[in-house]
Amino acid sequence: MVLFPTTTESAGTPGGRPALTIDGETISRSELFGAAAAVAEQVAGSGPVAVNATPSIRTAIAFLGCLQAGVPAVPVPPDAGPRERSHILSDSGATLWIGNRPDDLPDELATLTVDSAATGTPPAEPDPDSAALIMYTSGTTGAPKGALVSRRALQAQVDGLAAAWDWTPEDVLVHGLPLFHVHGLVLGMLAPLRIGASLVHTGRPRPASYAAAAEAGGTMFFGVPTVWSRIAAEPDSCRALSSARLLVSGSAGLPPTVFRDVQALAGQGPVERYGMTETLITIAARLDHDRVPGWVGEPIAGVEARILDEQGYPVISDGDTIGDLQIRGATLFDGYLNRAEATEESFSDDGWFRTGDVAAKNDQGQHRIVGRAKQDLIKSGGYRIGAGEIEAVLLDYPGIEEVAVVGVPDADLGQRIVAYVVGELSDETAVIDWVAGQLSVHKRPREIRRVDELPRNAMGKIQKSLLS
Ligand code: ATP
Ligand code: MG
Repeated sequence: MVLFPTTTESAGTPGGRPALTIDGETISRSELFGAAAAVAEQVAGSGPVAVNATPSIRTAIAFLGCLQAGVPAVPVPPDAGPRERSHILSDSGATLWIGNRPDDLPDELATLTVDSAATGTPPAEPDPDSAALIMYTSGTTGAPKGALVSRRALQAQVDGLAAAWDWTPEDVLVHGLPLFHVHGLVLGMLAPLRIGASLVHTGRPRPASYAAAAEAGGTMFFGVPTVWSRIAAEPDSCRALSSARLLVSGSAGLPPTVFRDVQALAGQGPVERYGMTETLITIAARLDHDRVPGWVGEPIAGVEARILDEQGYPVISDGDTIGDLQIRGATLFDGYLNRAEATEESFSDDGWFRTGDVAAKNDQGQHRIVGRAKQDLIKSGGYRIGAGEIEAVLLDYPGIEEVAVVGVPDADLGQRIVAYVVGELSDETAVIDWVAGQLSVHKRPREIRRVDELPRNAMGKIQKSLLS
């Protein structure tokens, strides 16, 4: 198994385009692989290498160099606070640091400087089962956990998504996502490099930068829901995306209102895909299916999904009945680093990974993600209620900009539905009545709490654990 085939490498990138453009800086495929091989020579045989994941050509060279050497790379968020950084460094056992060096790094952690003009000889292809990345989860529900991701999983990931989205060397992917999670790093950078396609990284995911990249020939655009919502709020930028072949959303559920706004302006709504650090992206909407907001498609090649009820039986595929989503297949991680117990608990007795997410499936095999079992599934008055359904209705209410629905402990109901809302509201009772008029009455929030903003992490995910 060869992770980055040399046939695409020697062929260069179609049209003589740079392999990577990051925040205006460019590098060709041969320069990139040459400089990466020089890094590979230097890191060969070392322990895990921490890479400060600032979006830059040097960061890309660093990741690629580690991958070529078969040494696990540990992406570190560039704006990580000292506590978060020290957790990642000590937990991963990183022995080298690449990138700008913050003041608080331990002295024994040596720094390696990347030279983008260097060349080296690529070492022999590493063992496909070796760890390629130690990637930390987003920390939405607790301290980030280090997931061991093998080369084999990366290969299966890229090939599965390339097949689902007809991703070819002719494509120019555009995004401005962080390079320390699956979305930006694996799909957003390693995938185009394996495919032999180009990447334009805009530094930050600004609507105007996406529009400019579309005008310059970008074909595929990635964003998290907050990015799509900002783009939809800038109609001129959003219209510019009508020339793209494919818009993709993921990392959290895309509100239907945002899907519809983008569709109205760009002529197409973003397709959704679902995944996790532990499993990589496992379920993705195919190009030839109807794009329906909330539906994330079907398992990619090499991956299987099942949805089980509370007794452990598969739920009926009627699109409506929900259960626990479990995954198995080629893209799965090899466990959490230093957390044998958590690893064991995350698998069922018959070897499926328990995602912790709740989903439904229709008779076409299309999946709908309801949310996290612990946070988005509210148990109130004997009912199991998905927060997302209520959030979607609230977002249609005039003046409501953002919303997070949670269940808070309640002596009578078990949990009480509370909606945290950003926006201008004069009459909160009217909002509650509005939900009661659209959904079953037991799904109405008992309380509306107005806030100036919702707590979000680097991926724009709402941290509901800070709300209830
Ligand atoms: P932590 O595990 O540290 O609490 P996290 O689960 O947010 O953080 P990630 O692995 O980055 O860390 O995110 C995976 C989760 O993101 C999934 O379990 C799911 O809840 C959510 N998610 C990803 N894609 C989608 C999607 N398309 N729709 C809804 N939710 C999604
Ligand atoms: Mg998680």
